[in-house]
Amino acid sequence: MPISTTNPATGETLETFEAMDAEEVDRRLERARTAFEEYRTTGFAERAELMRRAADELEKDQDEIARTVTTEMGKPVAAARAEVAKCVKAMRWYAERAEGLLADEHPSQGDVEDSGATTAYVRYRPLGPVLAVMPWNFPLWQVIRFAAPALMAGNTGLLKHASNVPRTALYLEELFRRAGYPEGCFQTLLIGSGEVEGVLRDRRVAAATLTGSEPAGRSVASIAGDEIKKTVLELGGSDPYLVLPSADVAKAAEVAVAARTQNNGQSCIAAKRFIVHREVYEEFARLFTDGMRALKIGDPMDESTRIGPLSSERGRADLEELVEDARKHGATVLCGGRRPASHPAGWFYEPTVLADITPAMRIHREETFGPVATLYRVADLDEAIEVANDTDFGLSSNVWTRDRAEQERCVRDLRAGGVYFNGMTASHPAMPFGGVKRSGYGRELSGHGIREFCNATTVWHG
Ligand code: NDP
Repeated sequence: MPISTTNPATGETLETFEAMDAEEVDRRLERARTAFEEYRTTGFAERAELMRRAADELEKDQDEIARTVTTEMGKPVAAARAEVAKCVKAMRWYAERAEGLLADEHPSQGDVEDSGATTAYVRYRPLGPVLAVMPWNFPLWQVIRFAAPALMAGNTGLLKHASNVPRTALYLEELFRRAGYPEGCFQTLLIGSGEVEGVLRDRRVAAATLTGSEPAGRSVASIAGDEIKKTVLELGGSDPYLVLPSADVAKAAEVAVAARTQNNGQSCIAAKRFIVHREVYEEFARLFTDGMRALKIGDPMDESTRIGPLSSERGRADLEELVEDARKHGATVLCGGRRPASHPAGWFYEPTVLADITPAMRIHREETFGPVATLYRVADLDEAIEVANDTDFGLSSNVWTRDRAEQERCVRDLRAGGVYFNGMTASHPAMPFGGVKRSGYGRELSGHGIREFCNATTVWHG
């Protein structure tokens, strides 16, 4: 894949970039290593000051960087500005909380004595330069979600961003430099995915995190495994969205539209499979389909646009294949199912609702990365949970019910990294984020996220 900025709304390539050569990559790895030796000795107050400055700089750049993001990957510009705001919030959150989250942990006095110590405690120390392989769908947020905790913990960061967002990738390096971080604390590697293995195997790289597809995750995890290096993986999702009889069905349908189409439908935590109790199925299907049909498709730079183009021609082709396969196997298209005639240029696709889904269809198993929803009619909660869990993914889940017993049952039985009631999944710095099964492992955000790239060190005094 060439490293280039191509506007998905027009298909026009605006800028292409030379990948960094081996010498340049080597220089950057060396800088990451030497920067770490110095930076790891800094205190939380100093790191927090740097992180706050980076947040302030990012806030100032909000309009301009949001337009860059929209130009590179096609999300509506209002959503790009919201992404910037979310990053700023997370950076300030970690600046404020990191010291507390990584405070020394003291076992009980009884346990300390039982170990033969006079005193003993756990100190969280940084690991070293961490490689972050990141995707284009939230090209700022995915990076900041890693960088804010990693830098606050005292690590240094090396970003290999997706090849279609190079301007955003270069901006991020510049942002941390402008905030005053020592040279080498956060660097972008403009390289193709073929170069990741060499970087990952390099002794100067301590660990890696990847957000993206399953094949990319498998490759990075197996190489890191071979090198005995820690990884965190945040891969795809096919989140279920259950609607049960006690739900506010109108609200559930309204939120469902947003949950499915956020980021033009290209979000790992988007609700993708809508599993609806038969008592409320007809009403939900009608309201949801009406809502999807009403979304305004258009130029993502236009403030009123709700659905922009998909990020790449390949991404749209993959989505079209899934819809065609479902149609061939008997799915009913309630709305959409085609490219909008009004937008012949660019990689647009109409918001689509498919019903009568069966396990014979690829769409039953595979992730739809675009504004395509599948509807399932179920007889009761047991069947709803069974359908919800009938997936290789396990990122998050959404359930609409006011019944406390049903809620407890879902917390016990839904196999996912999150269970959100009467609302849609959205990440927050204070809550752990990540999945089970093929959605990956490890957690980002919260105290769990910042400790992933730490060496929990036992300090024991005889
Ligand atoms: P990829 O997983 O291919 O890209 C994500 C990142 O991984 C990019 O930086 C990419 O670099 C890199 N990468 C790709 N292959 C490898 C590899 N073998 N070794 C090391 N790094 C690699 O995602 P795509 O953009 O191709 O999207 C395909 C599908 O992935 C989507 O349809 C969706 O299902 C899923 N996805 C999930 C995301 C999530 O948020 N969980 C985000 C994006 C995609 P490069 O761009 O240079 O190839």
